[in-house]
Amino acid sequence: MIAPLPPPPVAKTPTNTWLREWHGPLTADLVQTPGRFGLGRIPERLKPDATTTVVCGFCATGCGLTVHLKDGVAVNLSADPLYPVNLGMACPKGWEALTPLAAPDRATTPLLRNASTGAMEPVSWVRAMHEFTTKMKAVQAAHGPESIAFLSTGQICTEEMAFLGGLFRSGMGGRHCDSNTRQCMATAHVAYKQSLGFDAPPYTYADFEESDCLVFVGSNPCIAHPIMWQRVLRNPHHPSIVVLDPRRTETAMAATLHVPLAPKSDLTLLYGLAAALLEKGVVDRRFVDAHTEGFAEFAAFVAAFTPERVCAASGLARETFDELVRVVAAGRRVSFWWTMGVNQGHESTRTAQALINLALMTGNIGRPGTGANSITGQCNAMGSRLFANATGLAGGRDFRDAGHRREVASVLGWPEECVPSEPGWAYDQIIDGIESGAIRGLWVVATNTAHSWIHQGRFRELAAKLDFLVVQDLYADTDTARMGHLFLPAAGWGEKEGTFINSERRIGLVKRVRRPPGQALSDFHIFQLIAAAWGCGGLFREWRSPEAVFQILKRLSAGRPCDFSGIADYRHLDASGGVQWPFTVADATESGVGGGPEAGALPGKWRERRLFEDGRFFLPGGRARFIFDEPRTPAEVPDAEYPFVLLTGRGTSAQWHTNTRTGRSDVLRQLYPAECYVEVHPDDAARLGLTVPGRVRLETRRGTLDANLYVTPTVPAGSVFLPMHYDGVNRLTASSFDPHSRQPSYKHCAVRVTRGN
Ligand code: SF4
Repeated sequence: MIAPLPPPPVAKTPTNTWLREWHGPLTADLVQTPGRFGLGRIPERLKPDATTTVVCGFCATGCGLTVHLKDGVAVNLSADPLYPVNLGMACPKGWEALTPLAAPDRATTPLLRNASTGAMEPVSWVRAMHEFTTKMKAVQAAHGPESIAFLSTGQICTEEMAFLGGLFRSGMGGRHCDSNTRQCMATAHVAYKQSLGFDAPPYTYADFEESDCLVFVGSNPCIAHPIMWQRVLRNPHHPSIVVLDPRRTETAMAATLHVPLAPKSDLTLLYGLAAALLEKGVVDRRFVDAHTEGFAEFAAFVAAFTPERVCAASGLARETFDELVRVVAAGRRVSFWWTMGVNQGHESTRTAQALINLALMTGNIGRPGTGANSITGQCNAMGSRLFANATGLAGGRDFRDAGHRREVASVLGWPEECVPSEPGWAYDQIIDGIESGAIRGLWVVATNTAHSWIHQGRFRELAAKLDFLVVQDLYADTDTARMGHLFLPAAGWGEKEGTFINSERRIGLVKRVRRPPGQALSDFHIFQLIAAAWGCGGLFREWRSPEAVFQILKRLSAGRPCDFSGIADYRHLDASGGVQWPFTVADATESGVGGGPEAGALPGKWRERRLFEDGRFFLPGGRARFIFDEPRTPAEVPDAEYPFVLLTGRGTSAQWHTNTRTGRSDVLRQLYPAECYVEVHPDDAARLGLTVPGRVRLETRRGTLDANLYVTPTVPAGSVFLPMHYDGVNRLTASSFDPHSRQPSYKHCAVRVTRGN
């Protein structure tokens, strides 16, 4: 345990000058006029009663929300009709985005656990910083510099992520850090990087409208990405819509073909689809020969995936498989889309790459309406993937590459030895590190590990072993915050500024349209405070504001595939409805649009862009790689004791992750069941004697959960489905990970189903 602390310095009052300064004036000086995006100019001066567009802070669709201001403060919002992402639409979460900020139980002051009473008690920021630095340093002194770790998020701004990664690894001397994007997007990151040379989702949302065959795999955009689904509905080409999913989801019901494959038979099915397309000659030989490598080996490998083998593994009728092959073969602009049903699997990277392989072999990439397209989850998972500086070096670089380290050190003006040469541990390894005693101090930023982590009971037990747990969030009552020793109150989306990067690589602007409550500070300002308190503020002298860091990030991106050095400033982003990377200095010159008070909209060709139109990928020689492996059995399969498969996923479009924010909206709470429910097939319900209304007990080797019974034929017999947002769901899930991305396999474990209480 940590040695007793010396008495803290006398805390200054909350009305300290620095605190007032950091709450500062609201930054709604980027105020729109009705004719943005080509028709108007951003006025230079703040209009106190006007509207301004802010990118939504929930999912990675990245919708533009028009915030209505009175006296410069947000009073309402609507969906921006001119924003190129959502075109005037928003899902329930977007419409309610301001409500969680106004929740009466927002955290307003730092809290410190009283060692005698166990209660969390308010303290000043000065005391909080003293506790943070003294105890983290004490852990390092006792157990080594690598004995502290952080777990962060895809929900804060890119500038904040970059600051956190730099502060922790270069300023505080820590090494092991990761974010909750490991839980949703690590697979896409690794799959793209290995196959295409960079984490580069190739599409633009216009591809939803230009495709004549859309194949959704483990993806339910009707509720998970409803605005993307609206873009599908605008498609004028009467497209075939194919859904590969064990459940007959909302999207499957709306599809022209639902392929109800057995859980986790997707990799076998996709290899079989490739083999059948090869058999039919549906191969773009010109594209394959000019732009890829490894095709011959891939073709030889998939030859073993005969229709008979595929149907045996997937449980599909032969006619269904043949129809899938026929529909994909008939497409001229085929797009493959995947989400968590792929990413959260035990062999997720190879499954994502099986989709990339299909796009490559059929030449369905780099053209309108095509692509192997990962749909991202959190609002800024893409920012995390590029700049969090956790398991990858800033700008999509590698810690182990000396040239990359030199580039980063040169841009930042840091000595080269300040840039770490090794990546840190992934999320699951950090948790294993807590168990082994290697990790003693943990800093959790804007995520709720105790709820969302797979096999949550293990984390809850292990967290009790930590010498020091710090949680930084909007609310002090999250499952994780309740376990902490120190709590730091953070400003939320709409109370700070910065940028997010959405699914289609569009960098969008977040603005401060509300004051954070009490003494809550933006994550950016908290990192500034910690840097100063730790004694490493000198490294971050240039990091004065989010926009100053944005300028640094531009320089870090220069020359990389994600180069956005041509974006002048925040005004440029605002006037353009966001800008997709890449956007180089040469692009800026060609577009003829810059930043500053006179910033205007980008001309049409710059507003919606896809990658790889020239067939050149980011690997040596410009060639994409076919990557494949033999399918494996999931870590835990049903048996006599636990005879069902437990599937998990998104419940409704009104819920977000652990309901930390959406649970604070009266409106959203009306849009989903208050209590956890489980979907059971009618045949299984009849066999088990389960009747509605009734309760069901779900037991796995890790825990038990009682839920309300919902009998529905949309879930396949032999499986049950739980929406992931309710506490206790991850009591049941099993610690199983994809070996390449280390992403948890939330979608498959064995469960027993009986009558519950
Ligand atoms: Fe926000 Fe996503 Fe809903 Fe758009 S779809 S309003 S980005 S939560």
